[in-house]
Amino acid sequence: MSSDNPDISVVIPVFNEANNLALLNARLSAVMAGCEQSFEVIFVNDGSQDDTLEKIRSLCEQSTNFRALSLSRNFGKEVAITAGLDKARGDAVIIMDADLQHPPELISQFIEKWRQGFKNVYGQRLDRTTDPRLRTIFTKLFYRLVNKFGDISLPSGAGDYRLLDRQAVDALLSMRERARFNKGLYAWIGFRSIGVPYSVESRAAGESKFNFSRLMQFALDGFMSFSSVPLKIWTYAGTLISGFALAMASYYWIRTMLFGVDLPGFPSLIVSITFFSGVQLISLGVIGEYIARIFNEVKGRPLYLIEETINYELINKKEKQTP
Ligand code: UDP
Ligand code: MG
Repeated sequence: MSSDNPDISVVIPVFNEANNLALLNARLSAVMAGCEQSFEVIFVNDGSQDDTLEKIRSLCEQSTNFRALSLSRNFGKEVAITAGLDKARGDAVIIMDADLQHPPELISQFIEKWRQGFKNVYGQRLDRTTDPRLRTIFTKLFYRLVNKFGDISLPSGAGDYRLLDRQAVDALLSMRERARFNKGLYAWIGFRSIGVPYSVESRAAGESKFNFSRLMQFALDGFMSFSSVPLKIWTYAGTLISGFALAMASYYWIRTMLFGVDLPGFPSLIVSITFFSGVQLISLGVIGEYIARIFNEVKGRPLYLIEETINYELINKKEKQTP
């Protein structure tokens, strides 16, 4: 790596956040000005449809520490973060939302912990009062399920807002899976980790990009990426049901031997056929969910496409001058 590399890279995924960028710039720049470290800020425009890109362009004109990638369409927050990490050159990388729910003022504490030797420093939200009730309930349920049945344990309240040491970033980037669930990957890589508590602020402007169905899809991706329990559970369920069916058969056999044939049990027949067809369809569905993900990975498409980069010509020029 060249000596021009900044100490800290701040990666910010941005999707339709035109109204937040001015405030974000003001608060982030104030924090960065107070830091001793050199830094770069990388905005990843994730296919915004408002004038986010224009706003980013003008920020990049004001400061050579600001850079941007513009993806060719909306690839989703997880992938946008990965694109930013791919381009980040800092010894440490901070990941932050653009809507100011992640207070930039926390950065100095992150850096302090990093200086103490922690390589995975995460912001730990103290409460979820800024989230809708239903979302909070489902989030808690999701965390409980993953921690019980998944291969990883997710620290409560840890999200994307965090600082990662270069070593942790490289570890993260060595995993190119498409169904990305960053919160799981952060936990999977390990390294000396520590939480820094903070309260989440309300979104500065606009609305959350994650509606109910998108969150559900995200949760499913997250769970299936880190657990094969849903696949295995059907072996147990199947064995249990077959055992039960065998017991039932013996019961009827003995009864017929002792008392002869009684009324043909049409209702019980139709109920059990419907029930077990349902069970079979569910298990097929679970297998299908995994196969769909395998298919997605096997296609081997690039994770994202960059349409445009801003202020990168500055770095490239410098690197050419100093071979
Ligand atoms: N975001 C993104 N791509 C998307 C959705 C969101 O880059 O497809 C960005 C968004 O601009 C914001 C961050 O991810 O900077 C978090 O999004 P949001 O605030 O909507 O999520 P929430 O805070 O509700 O979890
Ligand atoms: Mg938000």
